[in-house]
Amino acid sequence: MKKIGLYIHIPFCKSKCPYCDFYSMRSDAIGYDDYTACVLESMESWQDKLNVRADTLYFGGGTPSLIGGKNIALIVRRAKALFGVDGEITVECNPSAIEEGFFETVSKAGVNRISLGMQSAVDSERRKLGRTADRDCILECIKEARNAGIENITLDVMLGVPDQTLESLKETVSFCLESGVPHISAYMLKLEEGTYYYNNAEKLNLPDEDLTADMYSFLSEQLTANGFEHYEISNFAKPGYEGKHNLKYWNCEEYLGIGPSAHSFIGGKRFYYPRDIDSFRLGNAPEADGDGGDEEEYIMLRLRLAEGLIFSSYYEKYQKNLPERIIEKARFFEKQGLMKVTDTSIAFTREGFLLSNTIISELIYV
Ligand code: SF4
Repeated sequence: MKKIGLYIHIPFCKSKCPYCDFYSMRSDAIGYDDYTACVLESMESWQDKLNVRADTLYFGGGTPSLIGGKNIALIVRRAKALFGVDGEITVECNPSAIEEGFFETVSKAGVNRISLGMQSAVDSERRKLGRTADRDCILECIKEARNAGIENITLDVMLGVPDQTLESLKETVSFCLESGVPHISAYMLKLEEGTYYYNNAEKLNLPDEDLTADMYSFLSEQLTANGFEHYEISNFAKPGYEGKHNLKYWNCEEYLGIGPSAHSFIGGKRFYYPRDIDSFRLGNAPEADGDGGDEEEYIMLRLRLAEGLIFSSYYEKYQKNLPERIIEKARFFEKQGLMKVTDTSIAFTREGFLLSNTIISELIYV
């Protein structure tokens, strides 16, 4: 039986970061224990319906660490009992929202991967992003997670944030390398409508697009020179430490998302819970979001990976060859140094990753 990925959305944060449009709130609307009870109930009812196994479990948010080790452990243990989760179990943590003993509690329950929302190793940059933890606090979190037996740690880095320069990014990259963590995710700041940053962009001293692109290239060069593989547009890992849960998204595999704003892809159908905690608490069913997993989507997702689109896998999935016109266009981009074409696959180069959205549209639609 093929195993799915299980995602649990924890929609609570201590305060709202000025650039963020994820669905999150302060816990006044519902207590952490009550929310945990809703998640447990929802997992039970999904398993009754689907009868599936899962091999990854991912707590995202929001700030999952905020609900406390005891609640995370309750959900992990029930997920193991119901879905047989036997692989990667990740919890996103905000370094400023971790209670004493958190890592030990969750490690004992089976959590084996921690994602730390660092964003920058430069304290002044982090403060502008609404993050209160300082550099020492992040180092302490890494140490505590390791002491609890969790070696698989990933740090989030943001590129293109206010006041950031190539020099200040060097400090962040050095911190990442010196910390010895085996995985880094690097995202470019996006101004999302409705956020404080979106409404005040002109006051923010944001690096321009070219500088942000240089930062991306610099980060990629430095990390790959130090044993990381740039395995996905925004992700870098030491061998064997690729994020298994997220690989399911890029491989167009099935996943079940539980919690308000969580998305799912099961049995060829996409569906999601609305951004409404009351609706989730009342046990309302998620909303349909159409069919998923068609050829275009698969091409788009697979090209996010450095490995690219493998012709034989495409054939196996759709019982047909990748259209020749797509390979022809990839050859055109290869001449510009943006793609690699072999007898078995097409893939982006590092420079191509930076233009991936435009190139993918050209490959598929033009
Ligand atoms: S901690 Fe994360 S989810 Fe919460 S407001 Fe900040 S960026 Fe958004």
